[in-house]
Formats: sequence, C-alpha cells, structure tokens
Amino acid sequence: MARIKKGDTVAILGGKDKGKTGKVLQVWPETERALVERINLVKHFERRSQQNQAGGIVEREGAIALAKLAPVCPKCQKPARVGWRVSGTDEKRRICRRCQEPL
Ligand SMILES: [Zn+2]
Repeated sequence: MARIKKGDTVAILGGKDKGKTGKVLQVWPETERALVERINLVKHFERRSQQNQAGGIVEREGAIALAKLAPVCPKCQKPARVGWRVSGTDEKRRICRRCQEPL
C-alpha cells in the first residue's frame, strides 16, 4: 500500500519547491519517485514539431523523490504524517496521524 497515490494533493517538503502543494500526476513505487503538477519544473529544449509549432523551451515536471512529499490532510490542511488503520475487512487505510482523519 502506497503512502502517496496518484491524484493526491501533496505538500513539498524539500527541494526548490519546498512549501508548495500540487497534485500527483504519476507515481513510480519502484524508484520511489513521483510527478507532481507544476512542481520541480525542468526546462526542455524542443525542436519544432506537429504538437509544438513554435518549438523552443518548454517547462515540464521532473520526477521528485517520494520522501520529499506528504499528502495534505483534508481536515487540518497540513502536510500529514501518514499512519495506517486496518479496518474490519483487513483493508489498510491511510490516516493523518495528527487528527486521525482518513486520507
Ligand atoms: Zn489531519
């Protein structure tokens, strides 16, 4: 079970975008990295193409380490330390360790 999932709103805990929040676009559990919307932007130089008529410099999200991300708790609105709760069906669920709210 992943601490961070696609679609989560996460806070950035480290790096140049520290303090910002964004939506998780993709997660790679094997490498423990994720892509977060408008976070860790990297400039790419692109040739003119069908999709990109103008060419030139475009900014794209770069992968960021999962360790630098924390889900934002919907209740306390702060980056949550993720805890786990096992429900009756043995399903593990994420909770905010501060307020016990499910994430
Ligand atoms: Zn909370």
